[in-house]
Amino acid sequence: MNYKKVTDEVIRRLKEIVGDENVLCEHLMDYGHDETHILDWVPPEVVVKPKNRTEVSEILKLANREIIPVTPRGGGTGLSGGAVPIYGGILLSLERMNRILEIDEDNFVAVVEPGVILAELYKAVEDRGLYYPIYPEEESATIGGNVATNAAGMKAVKYGVTRNYIMGLEAVLPNGTVIETGGKYVKNSTGYNLAQLLVGSEGTLAVVTKIILRLIKRPKKRCYLIPTFESLGDAISTVPKILKEGIVPVAIEFMSGIAMQLCQNYTGIKLPIPEAPNYLIIIIESDSELELKNLTERVNAICLNNGASDVFIVDTERDMKKVSEVRAKLHFAVKSLGLEDIGDAVVPRSKIPEFMNMLGEITRKHGILVSGSGHAGDGNVHFSVIAFGTPKEEFNRKLPEILEDVFRGSVSLGGTISGEHGIGVAKKKYVPIAIKQEQIELMRNIKRVFDPNCILNPGKIFD
Ligand SMILES: Cc1cc2nc3c(=O)[nH]c(=O)nc-3n(C[C@H](O)[C@H](O)[C@H](O)COP(=O)(O)OP(=O)(O)OC[C@H]3O[C@@H](n4cnc5c(N)ncnc54)[C@H](O)[C@@H]3O)c2cc1C
Repeated sequence: MNYKKVTDEVIRRLKEIVGDENVLCEHLMDYGHDETHILDWVPPEVVVKPKNRTEVSEILKLANREIIPVTPRGGGTGLSGGAVPIYGGILLSLERMNRILEIDEDNFVAVVEPGVILAELYKAVEDRGLYYPIYPEEESATIGGNVATNAAGMKAVKYGVTRNYIMGLEAVLPNGTVIETGGKYVKNSTGYNLAQLLVGSEGTLAVVTKIILRLIKRPKKRCYLIPTFESLGDAISTVPKILKEGIVPVAIEFMSGIAMQLCQNYTGIKLPIPEAPNYLIIIIESDSELELKNLTERVNAICLNNGASDVFIVDTERDMKKVSEVRAKLHFAVKSLGLEDIGDAVVPRSKIPEFMNMLGEITRKHGILVSGSGHAGDGNVHFSVIAFGTPKEEFNRKLPEILEDVFRGSVSLGGTISGEHGIGVAKKKYVPIAIKQEQIELMRNIKRVFDPNCILNPGKIFD
C-alpha cells in the first residue's frame, strides 16, 4: 500500500478538528510502542486526541481521503503490537474520550467511552453495588482496548471474556460513517451481530467510540486457596480435576516456586506461605458462607488427593489483596529476569499437562528457557521465553523457531495461538498455523468491505 505522508496541510486540518493543543507533532516515541517486548518502536507522524465521535469521524474522513494510515490507541498496554503505528501516519489516541456516561442499575448496564481506564470503571461500578468481572490485570488498560483485543484475564474460568459483556457498540467506520449496533437489551436476533464482529478486531475495522457493557452483582463471599506441590505434573493435572467435579472457581492460576519468590521479592510482599516448587492460586466466590465453606473443603480435598503437600487458605481481605498484588506483578518480575517474549497460546483445559510438558521439550530442544505460568484454569497458561545469559544474536535467531514450535504444539493439542492478547503485528506470521487460508481470505474480504483503502490499523492480524 502506498500511503501518503502527513503534510502541513493535513496537520492544519487536524488542528481545526480537535484544536491545536490536541495535535502533537514532536516527541512521539511514547506513542510508538506498547508493552510487547520483541518489537521495534515506531513513532507516528502525528498524534491526535479527539474528544467525541464527531471528531473521530472527521479525522477518519480526512485520512481516508488522503490515504493516510490511522492507528487507534487506548492505554498502550497491549502485548502484541496492535497499537504500534508501523506505517507511521496518524496515531488516534482515545485517551480524552474517558467518560462513564451512565450506570443503569435497573438494567445492569454501564455505558462508557472507550478511553475509560479499567481502574476507574471498576471503582465507578462497585460504588453502585455492581460488578464488571473481566480482569485483564493491567488496570491502566482502557475498556476500548479490551474490546478491540477481546481481553480476558484470570477470572475467565468463571466469568468468560470481554465479548460476553458487550451488549452494544457505537463505532466509526474508516470512511467516517457512525454505526450503532446492539443496545441495552438482552436478546438480539436482528441480522448480523456487528458489535460482536468488532470485538477482537484489533482496531482494523472501526474505531469504537461508545460501549454498552453488561454488569452483574458481585458474590458476597470469597476466599483463596494456595496448594503447594512438589511435582509440576501434579499441580497442573489438579486443574482439570477440580473442573471435572463441577466446581467453577473464579480463577485457577499456576505459579512456579521461582516465579512466586521472584514476585514476592519484586513487590516486597511476604505471603504467609512456605517455599515450594509449584503453586496454584485458586479463587472461589459465593453468596453464601455455607456454600463457600463447602466448596473450599471440596477443592482442598481434590488438591490433597492429587499430590498437594499442603493447602493454605487465605480468607482475610488484607491477605487476599496481598496475594493478588504478588500475582499481578508476575509479568514485570519475570521481565526483570530477562524476559524477552510472552505468549498467550491457549489449549483445551484437559490438555494443559501436555502443553506444559511440551514447553519443557521446547526448552531442551533450543537451550532457552520457555516457562509457563498464569491462567491454568482456562487453558491459557502464558509462556515466557527468557533469555538469561543467551547472547542477543543467538536468542534473536532462535526466537521465531521457538514461537513456531509453541504455536504448532498448541494447535496440535486442539488450541490456538492467541487466547487474549490478539495477533497485532507480533503474531501475524504465525496465523496460518491456526487458521486455514480460505478463512484468512474471508477475513481479508471483511476487512475490504469495512476499509477498502486499508487506512485503519494496517498490517495488523494479516498483511
Ligand atoms: C502487565 C500486563 C498484564 C496483562 N495481562 C493481561 C491479561 O491477563 N489478559 C489480557 O487479556 N490482557 C492482558 N494484558 C494485555 C493488555 O492489557 C490488553 O491487551 C488490553 O486489552 C489492552 O488495552 P489498551 O487500552 O492498553 O489497548 P492498546 O494497547 O492501546 O491497543 C490494543 C489494540 O486495541 C486497539 N484499540 C484500542 N482502542 C481502540 C478503540 N477505541 N477502537 C478500536 N480499536 C482500539 C488498538 O489499535 C490495538 O490494536 C496485560 C498487559 C500487561 C502490560
